[in-house]
Amino acid sequence: MNLYTRFLRSLVLPLGSRLAGYGDVMPTLRRLEASQWWSMDELRALQNQKLRRLITHVYANVPFYHDWMDQAGVKPEDIQTTDDLVKLPIVDKHVLTENYPDIIRDHSIPKSKLVPAASSGSTGERLHYWTTKSQKAKKWAGLFRWWEMVGYEFGKPYGTFRLTPNRGLLGWPILEHLEWRMLRHVWLSAEEMTDDILLEYVQRLQRTKPIMLRSYASTVYYLARRMLNLGIRVPVPSILTTGETLTPNMRAAIEQAFAPGVVTNEYGGEGMQIAAECELHDGMHINAETVFVEIVRDGQRLPDGELGEIVLTNLDATAVPFIRYNIKDVGSLNNVPCACGRGLPRLAHLEGRLTDMFITPDGHWLTVHQFSGFFEHISSVRAFQVIQKAVDEILIKLVVDEQFSEADQQRIVDTFRRYLGANNHFTLEFVDEIPTTPAGKRRFFISEIIQGTGNTLGGDETQESS
Ligand SMILES: [Zn+2]
Repeated sequence: MNLYTRFLRSLVLPLGSRLAGYGDVMPTLRRLEASQWWSMDELRALQNQKLRRLITHVYANVPFYHDWMDQAGVKPEDIQTTDDLVKLPIVDKHVLTENYPDIIRDHSIPKSKLVPAASSGSTGERLHYWTTKSQKAKKWAGLFRWWEMVGYEFGKPYGTFRLTPNRGLLGWPILEHLEWRMLRHVWLSAEEMTDDILLEYVQRLQRTKPIMLRSYASTVYYLARRMLNLGIRVPVPSILTTGETLTPNMRAAIEQAFAPGVVTNEYGGEGMQIAAECELHDGMHINAETVFVEIVRDGQRLPDGELGEIVLTNLDATAVPFIRYNIKDVGSLNNVPCACGRGLPRLAHLEGRLTDMFITPDGHWLTVHQFSGFFEHISSVRAFQVIQKAVDEILIKLVVDEQFSEADQQRIVDTFRRYLGANNHFTLEFVDEIPTTPAGKRRFFISEIIQGTGNTLGGDETQESS
């Protein structure tokens, strides 16, 4: 660890984060850096200890979970280990939404300390929940530990590639400048991606030489395709992807464009850093100090190696507890120790978080993150679905509630006119509900013009969004 990294770690980051109310970041990171090397038994003991504390606390302070346990005939003392969790029913987004904002929250936390949060998940229907600065700090500590697994140290240059504007690290105004200058962070953001902008980004990457580039998988995949088509390559040692399923084809294209760089994938959701690949890329290490993962099918817990629905218990969060929460993704578990030496169990496979991305003929990008990010701020929109009808024609289906106003509509029209550019048409259609697929999934991004071959992404692996 060099002197500058040490200076940031021991002085700047602890001070800056404490001032912003996120004082838990660095102490948590230090604990996680140590505990990743514990044995699986030691980690299991920690999980059980945290689980007992969580269940006791939640039973006393969260009305929904109190009733939920009573109805299941389970007392806090019946839950001693993570094996006992099967005594409790599984919850999902609908259950939590029905009990939001009050019945589902931790009444021991003053309301002034609760931070509203929303996630779109993989179904396009938003989940609202409460979090706290402490919980967010712990999530960031999990992310920082992952970055460190692939060679990052504070102070080394890194980049973020996104389609949304920069809100600063952790959204702290005080750290926004610190982030850019002291942490040597390059932010590449664009709502449109013309060849000129792309070339400018490539030059910035060549000049600033980030050791890692963070992005949603589909976003950086698209950038990589464009670069390869234009014959451009930029070496970036680590490309960190998150947000959706990363297919082998996507990984190969990204690694080609940023050669000799290596892609490392992460999985998060509902305010949790859930799992991430280590430097060996053999499955994803679960952030087991915080998240307990079960794989379930037809309500039954499955053994290691079998594919099923991912059911999560957040061992730290109480603002809105996530206990046996079905996140509606599909994966399998691997409890064989990884050759890297970390005791953290792994997700062997992760399927079903694939999202599509559209590109209009004049170079405007459309991703699901753009839409979900935008609609998160319009609370009267309950659900949405975007359909590309023709190469220059987009249909946006909206389910709205009675609060929906003329001003909301104007905001949507203005924003999407900007997103789509002058040469593309879009229509808003108000519907009662967004239909689900035969498999019961609600797709929120559908391209009717991409039929398996010859699409603008040059591959057929991004067909099925889920
Ligand atoms: Zn490993």
